[in-house]
Amino acid sequence: MKKRIAIIGGGIVGASTAYYLSTLPGGDQLDVTLYDDGVGQATKAAAGIISPWLSKRRNKQWYQLATDGASLLMTLARKANLSTEIYHQTGTIVTRTNEKDLHELYTLAQERQAESPDMGEVALLSAEEVQARLPLLTRPQPGVWVAGGARLDGQALVEELLSQAQQVNLTVKQERVSFDHEGQLIASAGAKRFDQIVVAAGAWLPELLAPMGIKVAVRPQKGQLIVLNVPDYPTQENMPVLMPEGERDFIPFGHGKLVVGATHDDEGQFDLSVTPDATTDLLSSAQHFDDQLTADSIVGTKVGTRAYTADFAPFFGRLQSHPKLLVASGLGASGLTTGPLIGQLLAGTMIYGGTPDWSKYQKSLTNYVS
Ligand SMILES: Cc1cc2nc3c(=O)[nH]c(=O)nc-3n(C[C@H](O)[C@H](O)[C@H](O)COP(=O)(O)OP(=O)(O)OC[C@H]3O[C@@H](n4cnc5c(N)ncnc54)[C@H](O)[C@@H]3O)c2cc1C
Repeated sequence: MKKRIAIIGGGIVGASTAYYLSTLPGGDQLDVTLYDDGVGQATKAAAGIISPWLSKRRNKQWYQLATDGASLLMTLARKANLSTEIYHQTGTIVTRTNEKDLHELYTLAQERQAESPDMGEVALLSAEEVQARLPLLTRPQPGVWVAGGARLDGQALVEELLSQAQQVNLTVKQERVSFDHEGQLIASAGAKRFDQIVVAAGAWLPELLAPMGIKVAVRPQKGQLIVLNVPDYPTQENMPVLMPEGERDFIPFGHGKLVVGATHDDEGQFDLSVTPDATTDLLSSAQHFDDQLTADSIVGTKVGTRAYTADFAPFFGRLQSHPKLLVASGLGASGLTTGPLIGQLLAGTMIYGGTPDWSKYQKSLTNYVS
């Protein structure tokens, strides 16, 4: 008989887990059901920058997870035949106004490139060279170029991965589910039995596990970004992502679409309403680089809820107290980068069993779940 697996959450972690459960050898022996209520998903709202290599974060496990995650996305793009609308290795530019900071960043880029060849070519660019790569800028700044950087449309990726998995072993149900105190999954049709359950519920993990007396140290954070339509922008899709110092990120998606984001609003928590002041702030940040942009260009606003742990690090794995349950959360501001790798690791351990050593990627789960 086929093993029955449930996934709660259809964000990047849940969708990647479902995709790898459908593609890894042994996946044909599984019957997988994914539940998602579609409310406030961080993945749908994400800016989509994949470029972890120049991060100054000192957490080595996070850095390993994020850089391996960025590399896995390159492979996933090929294997899942992702269109360039979904994933595009456009390169990223990180700017610095101070000459000394710029050279320090370039030195860091060279060191990191030696360890991570997937980062691709790195280069120091003058303001004029930045403008040559991003002709839409009216006020360019010098920066460091990373050829391996990419932009990713989180919502489109999730839809594509789920659609591919549905052709193999996945059923998707759009509904909110819960657990009873024994860890049984309760869906709209009543209690359901599964051999294993992955709880990839982002910022909602604490409330889902609470009935079992499990505490999860995760807090929600509201994030907002704006989508602009700028018809006179170059139509080509391959313009790089700009990560300016002290300003919001600038992500040209080609065909006149520009995304600017994102805010980090701790007080907003699970609030999904558009904050007008945040919209103004995002636009004014974008105008620092392109003074032609106006409020009339704004065609959309996205709001989502990030999940953060106290040390800003994600966690994932099997719960010792409830061995049928695997959890993942706390992906913070870089979950599009780390999510597919987390999904692949979770899928692998469900199919092949065992207790893999993931200490190169994370601290013990007991730091976050008790
Ligand atoms: C504005 C913004 C910009 C960002 N930009 C970037 C970026 O540029 N690069 C990057 O790498 N990362 C970025 N991120 C971070 C990234 O989007 C997140 O870390 C990642 O998407 C989290 O994925 P997840 O699958 O853990 O959670 P989510 O995407 O939040 O998915 C969890 C899902 O579980 C569902 N769910 C919860 N409870 C239940 C229940 N009881 N029943 C059914 N379903 C349930 C939710 O509705 C949701 O759909 C950004 C995030 C935001 C908000």
